Amino acid sequence: MRKKLIIANWKMNGSVVANSKLLMAMLKFTNRLSNCELVVCPPYIYMHQVKEYIAGTNIKLGAQNINANEFGAFTGEVSVDMLRDFNCRYSLVGHSERRALYNESNDAIADKIKSLVAGGIIPVLCIGESLAQRERGEAKEVITTQLAAIIDVVGLKCFKSVVIAYEPIWAIGTGKTASVEQAQEIHQVIRQYLSKLDNKLFKDLSILYGGSVNENNAGALIKQKDIDGFLVGGASLKADALERICLGETVIIE
Ligand code: PEP
Repeated sequence: MRKKLIIANWKMNGSVVANSKLLMAMLKFTNRLSNCELVVCPPYIYMHQVKEYIAGTNIKLGAQNINANEFGAFTGEVSVDMLRDFNCRYSLVGHSERRALYNESNDAIADKIKSLVAGGIIPVLCIGESLAQRERGEAKEVITTQLAAIIDVVGLKCFKSVVIAYEPIWAIGTGKTASVEQAQEIHQVIRQYLSKLDNKLFKDLSILYGGSVNENNAGALIKQKDIDGFLVGGASLKADALERICLGETVIIE
């Protein structure tokens, strides 16, 4: 069965003091999460702090990125085994900020997925179209091309362990969310595309939506048939917003 999954991507935000406050506030509502898994992806340097706070709770630890190599001369990088030392369960891969700012290619992303799956960490593959691509009517094609480029390298068996995050680039950190119809349409394209490749393999596939998700739009988005949860950036830094996103409570703005 598909479970609701909420992934908090802190990006390069936080401090020891700010994280403490946020985590303390999160711990007040996490015991009320029933059919929902909550994952926190802090900057690496705060992983130990987060691990200590979430010990014995139902919050899971995630990473924002990894290096596909096992060990060695890769200054500034972190491997899958290092993440396993922290009981890390998930890692983002191919976030659009990494694709754009660090030139991450589909081949590099595929290598990361292979290493994560081999190490028992669930890759959360981020895919999404730019505004120009959407305006040219290419959104569906961009999405399926991104999926195909990864599957061609890692193979279907490896890809079955992946969680997909559909994140239209124009909606990330901009305050512009995809409408429920736009989001559902692409989520359905993703599900159908993978089901056609292997219906059995992808029957429990989780597809998250990301892009300016907040406490006001999460309720309507999560009702969509093919939306299984969210990858949340900005709003995940506010405990009250995250609580409403996780618990499905909507705030009506007058
Ligand atoms: C993200 O970090 O992937 C993201 C979707 O950010 P935001 O929620 O701030 O748009």
